[in-house]
Amino acid sequence: MKNASLLRPSLQDFVREISQGNRVVLAQAITLIESKLDEDRALAEQLIEKLLPATGHSVRLAITGVPGVGKSTFIETFGKYLTSLSKKIAILTIDPSSTKTKGSILGDKTRMEELGRDPLAFIRPTAAGDTLGGVADRTREAILLCEAAGFEIIIIETVGVGQSETAVRNMVDFFLLLMLAGAGDELQGIKKGIMEMADGVVITKADGENVKRANQACSDFQYALHLFSESDSKWKSEVLTSSSLEKRGIKETWDLIEKYVQFTKHNLYFDRQRKQQDLIWFRESIQQLLIQHLSKSEAVHAKMKLLEEQIMSKSVLPSRAAKEIIRDFLSA
Ligand code: GDP
Repeated sequence: MKNASLLRPSLQDFVREISQGNRVVLAQAITLIESKLDEDRALAEQLIEKLLPATGHSVRLAITGVPGVGKSTFIETFGKYLTSLSKKIAILTIDPSSTKTKGSILGDKTRMEELGRDPLAFIRPTAAGDTLGGVADRTREAILLCEAAGFEIIIIETVGVGQSETAVRNMVDFFLLLMLAGAGDELQGIKKGIMEMADGVVITKADGENVKRANQACSDFQYALHLFSESDSKWKSEVLTSSSLEKRGIKETWDLIEKYVQFTKHNLYFDRQRKQQDLIWFRESIQQLLIQHLSKSEAVHAKMKLLEEQIMSKSVLPSRAAKEIIRDFLSA
């Protein structure tokens, strides 16, 4: 760790190189924001604050769906299409599974190989081994760094299994859900809540024998989406079919996203949502910092253990136990 920090650019070098789009330094900066060392955190925060004026100009997208739905193949094809339009794109992957187990749903295989070699694309997985809140925080910071480095479209890829969707919804402009035709909602692990979050749904693998089923699923989902109440953005979510292998539905997906951006910029929702997201970030950070502080105190730890035993033996109400912890902490 010490050696790494010796080789690290200074704050000024970080700012200059990132502003010039230096991807190696951008990658180093993302490693810096992932560090838990206090001195690294301080440098990371200074860096992001310095870069803040150069952020915010991208379109932030989430792409989600269960393992096997075709996320990495779709992002590869979609990403190549965007770079063919000379757009600079950054892909950040969040893998909730890796925070719990050693295995990773997203990281095990070779993914997006061609896109990885594209000079206009930058791909970065989120480091594992933290709480979802921590991962979300770092992803927000990574988005800002990528924007400061000149990336115009930021794609956050996540596995659609529930935990991370709300967190991701709160950091992007457009939430794209990938679905398989005919797999059944239960099979896809997709909850109604996730469907409701989607600004667009893409039915994947609409090729070969699957075309008919995909078209049917497309109209089924379109119908289902119409049953949801109107969203704050007033945007009506749309459903498309695509085939990453045959490169169909790719341009249409981007056209849909552009239409959304235009629509929400025009009705001022785009900016409003971003401001709300910053407030959510602020409030979540307060909660996280409080928990971190609490868990650093040995006295609190000991007391928590004691209270946990009492909760298990039903001799104290969990909410009252929580109040006791906070009262002790504040009076310490
Ligand atoms: P992920 O787990 O969601 O990232 O899914 P992958 O992109 O790894 O794809 C899962 C499987 O579906 C792979 O075997 C892909 O070759 C296949 N696949 C992905 N996209 C398509 C497509 O458009 N058409 C067909 N027929 N197969 C696809």
